[in-house]
Parts: sequence; C-alpha cells; structure tokens
Amino acid sequence: MSMNNQGRPSGSGEAFPASIATISGDRGLDHEEGLIFELGHGATGVDLPDVQISDARLGGARRKDAIGLPGLSEPEVIRHYVRLSRKNYAIDSGLYPLGSCTMKHNPRLNEKIARLPGFGDLHPLAPQSTTQGALQVISQLMNWLTTLTGMPAVAMSPKAGAHGELCGLLAIRAAIAARGETRPRILVPESAHGTNPATAAFAGFTVDEVPAKPNGRVDAEALKAKLGPDVAAIMLTNPNTCGLFEGEIVDIAKAVHEAGAYFYCDGANFNAIAGKVRPGDLGIDAMHINLHKTFSTPHGGGGPGSGPVVLSERLAAYAPIPLLVAGENGLRLIEDAADAPYGAKPFGRMCAFHGQMGMFTRALTYMLSHGRDGVRQASEDAVLSANYILASLKDVMSAPFGDGPCMHEALFDDSFLEGTGVTTLDFAKAMIDEGYHPMTMYFPLVVHGAMLIEPTESESKYSLDRFIHVLHTLATEARAKQTARFAGAPHLAPRRRLDETAAARKPVLRWRPNPLKAAAE
Ligand SMILES: *Cc1c(COP(=O)(O)O)cnc(C)c1O
Repeated sequence: MSMNNQGRPSGSGEAFPASIATISGDRGLDHEEGLIFELGHGATGVDLPDVQISDARLGGARRKDAIGLPGLSEPEVIRHYVRLSRKNYAIDSGLYPLGSCTMKHNPRLNEKIARLPGFGDLHPLAPQSTTQGALQVISQLMNWLTTLTGMPAVAMSPKAGAHGELCGLLAIRAAIAARGETRPRILVPESAHGTNPATAAFAGFTVDEVPAKPNGRVDAEALKAKLGPDVAAIMLTNPNTCGLFEGEIVDIAKAVHEAGAYFYCDGANFNAIAGKVRPGDLGIDAMHINLHKTFSTPHGGGGPGSGPVVLSERLAAYAPIPLLVAGENGLRLIEDAADAPYGAKPFGRMCAFHGQMGMFTRALTYMLSHGRDGVRQASEDAVLSANYILASLKDVMSAPFGDGPCMHEALFDDSFLEGTGVTTLDFAKAMIDEGYHPMTMYFPLVVHGAMLIEPTESESKYSLDRFIHVLHTLATEARAKQTARFAGAPHLAPRRRLDETAAARKPVLRWRPNPLKAAAE
C-alpha cells in the first residue's frame, strides 16, 4: 500500500494491511475495553472515613461481606467510560441515515436550557406551588403540539412512540367500552412499523393486515372492505414508512368514522409535515409525536424518548392522568382520577409522575428557537434533502417508487444488486468501512431488500454530496461485480461481521487481554 504525504493510505480498493499483533492488545487509538469489573484492581478513587454508625442503629442490617465493587482510580474510571463512548456511532460523530428513526442534530441550545438548575434539579415530588415554571413549560409545549396538529388535547406522559401508541389505543378502548361495545379488531397496513401490530396485540386486540398498492400507498379499497362493527381502529402512518404521503387519507378517515371506528395515526414521521399539515384536519383521532425525532431531543443511549399523544374531540375525555389544569393558584397537575374535572374520564395512567421533563424542556427550546416558520422550514428542508438523495442515486440504485418525489426519506430496494452476489446487508456493512452508519435495512417489508435513507434537514449540501458520492461509488462497484469491499465487510471496524442474532442474544462482553499477565506466563 502506498501512502500519501499525510501518511494516509492513498488510492482505493487496495488490499488491507495484514493484521499486526500489538503488545497491549489495543490497536492504535482503537482501544480494547474490558468490563469495569475486569479492570478493577482494588485501588479507590476517593478516601472515605470509616463508617461510624453503630450496628444497633442499622438494626443488624450492616453488610457483612465486601460488596465486590471494582476498585479503580479516578482517571481509570474516566478513561473507561470515554473509551466506551468512542465506540459509539452518534449523530455528533457523523451522518446517521437511519430511515424512520429521524436522527437529526440535537441543538446545543436545548442542552444548555435543560441544564439550567431550575429545570435540571427539579424533583417530581416538589410541591406544585414551587414548580410553576416547569408546569408552564409543559403547558406551552402542549399548546405548541395541539396547535401544530390541530387537535384539542394532548397526553404528555408517554415515554416513547411505542408507549404513545399504547396510550392512544387504551383511550380508544375506553371510548369503545363507554359506548357499551366490544370491538376486538385493529387494521394495520403491511408497511407499518413493527411497534404498531405489537402495541395492538399488547392492548388485547387482534391485528388484521391491510395490503399496499403497487404505488406504495395503503390499498384504501381493501381497507374499507375490512371495516365492520368489530373494528376498533386503524393504525396508519403518514407519511408512511415508504416515505410517501397517503393521498387518500381524508377519504379513509371518513370511512373509518362511518364504521364507528377510530383513526390512530403513527406520527413518527411528523417531521416531514410539521407546520405544513395539521393531522386534525385529516380526521385523525389519536397520534403520538416522537419528541426525539421531530423535535430534536436525543434518542436511546443519548437520552430517554418522549411520545406525547394528541387526541381528537372524540377521545379527549379519556386522556390519562396526570391532567394539567389552570386554577386560581396557577397550574395544577391532577394526579387522581377522582379529582378530574367534570366530563373527564381518564382511562388510568401510563407511568409514574408526569413524563420526560428533560425532553419537554429541550423540545420547547427547539420550537421557540425555530419559531413556527422555522418548524415549517425544517420539514421542507428534510423533504428537500431526501429528494436530493433520491434524485442523485435512483439511476444507480433502484428506487421502487422513484417516479415521483418522496417525503422525508428515500426508499431503495435491492434489484440493482441482482446477479452481483452483493446483498443489502453487504452493502450496508460496506458503509461502515466508509465511516457511515448504515441506513435502515430490510424495512419496510413491502419492498425486497429495502434500504431506507433519512438524511433530515441537519445535513449541509457538502455533507449530502459526500454521502451521495460514497453510495454512488459503492453502487457502481457492486453493479460492476467488483465485490472485494462487500465480501465480509466491515473490514476496518473494531469488529468484523458478527452473527447479529448471536451477538444480540449471547453477547460476549468479557475480553481484556492483560499484557502483564501474558508477560508473566
Ligand atoms: C420510531 C418509530 C416508532 C416507535 O417510536 P419509539 O419512540 O422508538 O418507541 C413507531 N413507528 C414508526 C414509524 C417509527 O419510526
């Protein structure tokens, strides 16, 4: 391999260097990291005085054996967690094209505001007279969510999209029970996110699948034919998981309501239409909003999710406690169904306390810093970015619905890989060698070998062009059957390709080569 004058390997497609065993087990800045229990050697990072409390005061509950916590110095603890954090791929380290998941930038302003002591140090059991500012934040956020969606009510406590789906279906179940009916069936399109049928089943309904049309939209005629007195609701995603707007949605809502059923919308893709379309105007009865997608709060390992659910007039009365009401002495959270205002029939509660306060603060910061026009522009830019990717790659990759524009995500299938021996998985793994997190693979299920790319509005044109260049080159090489990059990829990641099922079910976490031990043997 030749090197350029900056010591970087030059050229592409050359053989990878033979692996050189290192003495330490680390490879350059790629550190192997064991469990903290393997690293512990008895030292402690802090000096604590001996415990002075007598056994009598502890009621004989004093621990007799050592607790077995690992002992490390402070720098060792810091290094352990910093090294682990460097093994993560994050939106802060690179473009994260995971379709449906909306990995958009988490603005630092959000973090700054959430860390203000008045927000960061709140306790959920603090007297409400002392938390009026926090209740104002919740109230303002509710106002933004109901205004943007054109819905009269919102339940703030659900802690993720899937939790919001459950909240919506429990409200629907309560509304149906209040009518003295039993409706056991829920209709879900085949392109739905897995959480939709899972939630319906968890809430005690049976799931009936509705097919898609060749243009990637739900088959409205097939859906209407399935409606009947035993149907509680439909669950539809709009824009759907193919990145397409469901054009017949108003017509579908009308038919659903005529059949006495409710319309649940999976709002995970609201980031494509926020500020442009009000779901309430489409006839939707309940919709969750993933604050960690549309409103830029961190996901998963970066922080808890939050999935408030907006509710139509038909469902508003069944919203779970706590309920936020304005009273003589300011805002008040009603924690007990018996105290609910006249007409409210809460179905129960979704969780302890009030929801993810830290996410509420961040999401409201995002809204206030963007303004209504900025929220709309973010949606427009997200759609523009996705269409730029679709238009730039559809001639070299295959786009099943690429004849028209998409919404906020571009869907490709694997037909461009036919006869090459390269699969969607190989293609995605080769992206890791290029420093990119793969796109969403094999979802939605309605196209073969799906690759779903969602760039979001956060990426600059330069960033998009670089990404497109890499994918374009990968696709061109795959089609020319130059498959060296793909076979067994990733080649350059800390781990080669794993058996993904075994890695998830039987993870091997312990492994810390100790060079001192090896030298002693
Ligand atoms: C992300 C997502 C969900 C689930 O949301 P979580 O917050 O991950 O629970 C549901 N449906 C769709 C379409 C999604 O993209």
